[in-house]
Amino acid sequence: MGPLPKRKLSKTSKRTRRNHDKLSLPHLVLCENCGSYRLAHHVCKECGYYQNEAVVEIKKRED
Ligand SMILES: [Zn+2]
Repeated sequence: MGPLPKRKLSKTSKRTRRNHDKLSLPHLVLCENCGSYRLAHHVCKECGYYQNEAVVEIKKRED
């Protein structure tokens, strides 16, 4: 058997389920290091910091 559901969802359960899913935006927090907004639980794209540690080295072009 494949991963398909055995029963078709009723209109009600389709609507009821995940009613709230799109209400929340991705959680933005201020980066502790550089102060720019970043996604919570994600490494800062600006400086590569996460929880006050440089986990990603942002490479700067030197040429
Ligand atoms: Zn940062």
